[in-house]
Amino acid sequence: MTGMDLVSGRTGLFINGEWRDAEGGESFAVYDPADASVLARVADGSTNDVIDALDAAVAAQASWAASAPRDRGEILRKAFELINARADDFAELMSLEMGKPVAEAKGEVTYGNEFFRWFSEEAVRIHGRWMNNPAGTSRLLTIRKPVGPCYFITPWNFPLAMGTRKIGPAIAAGCTMVVKPAELTPLTMLALADVLTEAGLPAGVLNVVPTTSAADQSKAIMADDRLRKVSFTGSTPVGKLLVKQSADQLQRVSMELGGNAPFLVFEDADLDAAVEGAMLAKMRNMGEACTAANRFLVHSSVAAEFGEKLAERMGALRVGRGQDDGVDVGPLIEEKAVDSVSQLVTDAVHDGAKVLTGGNAPDGPGYFYNPTVLLDVHPESEINSQEIFGPVAAIATFDTEEQAISRANDTEYGLASYAYTRDLARTIRLAEQLEYGMVGVNTGLISNPAAPFGGMKQSGFGREGGFEGIEEYLETTYVSLPPF
Ligand code: NAD
Repeated sequence: MTGMDLVSGRTGLFINGEWRDAEGGESFAVYDPADASVLARVADGSTNDVIDALDAAVAAQASWAASAPRDRGEILRKAFELINARADDFAELMSLEMGKPVAEAKGEVTYGNEFFRWFSEEAVRIHGRWMNNPAGTSRLLTIRKPVGPCYFITPWNFPLAMGTRKIGPAIAAGCTMVVKPAELTPLTMLALADVLTEAGLPAGVLNVVPTTSAADQSKAIMADDRLRKVSFTGSTPVGKLLVKQSADQLQRVSMELGGNAPFLVFEDADLDAAVEGAMLAKMRNMGEACTAANRFLVHSSVAAEFGEKLAERMGALRVGRGQDDGVDVGPLIEEKAVDSVSQLVTDAVHDGAKVLTGGNAPDGPGYFYNPTVLLDVHPESEINSQEIFGPVAAIATFDTEEQAISRANDTEYGLASYAYTRDLARTIRLAEQLEYGMVGVNTGLISNPAAPFGGMKQSGFGREGGFEGIEEYLETTYVSLPPF
């Protein structure tokens, strides 16, 4: 079996446990970003199709909510095992449609699949409470219930993990769902639907409707009062639009949006460890991650040395097709992405930054950009305020801790942040003062299915993973009982 075999005969819409064509037989092409060749054609769901999917989710909701938590957990656990058994194929499929090197894609399979294992365990730990009224005159009881049919919209950068972070807790909580994967990378989600069916998920619980008309689809389904929850991972502008759109039916919303992560390196840091962490925080997914270190803020006494060491590591990375042996850096997702990264680098250099390595795109075909390190980036450069979403490390300096914290917080985003220091008191001050949902201390990798992932400010709200992850899919009913 190979990666593409996972979706052989499964490129339609997945509605009510069946594969079917889109209305009018419409379809769209999915491309390999390494050479722009067509990998597959996928059914292009219409607004009628998404309402069909919602019908299926609504019809399945009551019996799914009443199912035994242990049974829901067992289905997730079985899916976890099936994905493990097919990890190489999932990794290849993801590498083909998204571009990341196969070794990294395997890392995503491990990470993404862990949400299924984690939530298979959480399914049986949903509980309410029983307490005395403080006045002693009655009892208070709370019951947790699934929120109801959900709509999930996922981005292209982590085609598996961004799905399992939502699907896992929703299944565990007893919710049914309609999923709209990113149109650039829908194949992994279709393969996932197949695995969950094999694992025993009843028809209608999970429905997948790829489309090239995301705005129309989301409007149609969110206008329907049977939909109770929307969970979105993607850019901040689209997130804002969806929050506004959710107002009419007051759907519950979870928003995992963009980031602008600072990576602080203090004068007391272990510099080699900081470079190692920087490679992870910057280069995971070719820099196309919401958690990617976007602004390296380094104490002025160690900035030149840090920059040199980082440039040496970045310059040695091998750029190429994700499925080729020894490749560290795959293509970016599309031509627009290369143009946007190039523009940010050009502007930063124009504002005075020095290029230590890279700084350009190799000759085609494919959407590649060379790993790049920029030193002395001007604080006002555009590259500091925008998500780079590419393999470019932009280094600026600071002189005091106070300055470092205030610069780190000087963004509308608040998702991930990183800091390298050996001072414990400073670590605590940073954890308390950085306005971020996540702070990585002396590490470049913070994502963990057992931890609450999410942001504040314009990075959104809600948490995925950890004990918190399932809360997004539960409602609370309070019952007042008379004295006995
Ligand atoms: P995007 O917002 O362009 O698209 C994300 C998804 O939304 C896609 O499926 C797209 O089809 C859909 N979409 C676009 N317009 C829509 C509309 N009007 N209505 C409904 N759906 C719509 O983002 P992207 O380029 O796919 O992903 C990159 C962004 O995602 C970055 O900003 C990144 O930081 C963010 N991201 C955040 C997290 C997180 O957990 N916070 C994780 C990964 C990516």
